Amino acid sequence: MSTPSKVSRRNWIKAVATAVSGIAALPLLGRTARAAPAKVTKAIAHYQDHPDGPKMCGRCRFFIPPGGEAGHGMMGGAMGPGMMHEGLCQVVQGHVSPRGYCLLYQPI
Ligand code: SF4
Repeated sequence: MSTPSKVSRRNWIKAVATAVSGIAALPLLGRTARAAPAKVTKAIAHYQDHPDGPKMCGRCRFFIPPGGEAGHGMMGGAMGPGMMHEGLCQVVQGHVSPRGYCLLYQPI
């Protein structure tokens, strides 16, 4: 029987493998119809609604601000009221806060 730490480690490995396969597929998106890469759950990515120091979704290359493009985060694009609202993530399911954070964070 698995211990909680072993299950957590297994989930982490699955999350990284899924994220890496999704990242690897990103350059293909323009060429392959509308196939979206698989996303991991917030639980697997250990998402939290608050930053980890300076690390936060709004500064992550995977963050998609509302109505925006991925890779611009809230710092690279035009600042405005919409930049403080939840956006999407290329590798984690559901809406994410610009001030959120997860273990798949990659700085812009
Ligand atoms: S990968 Fe994690 S830190 Fe980056 S935008 Fe997605 S949820 Fe936020």
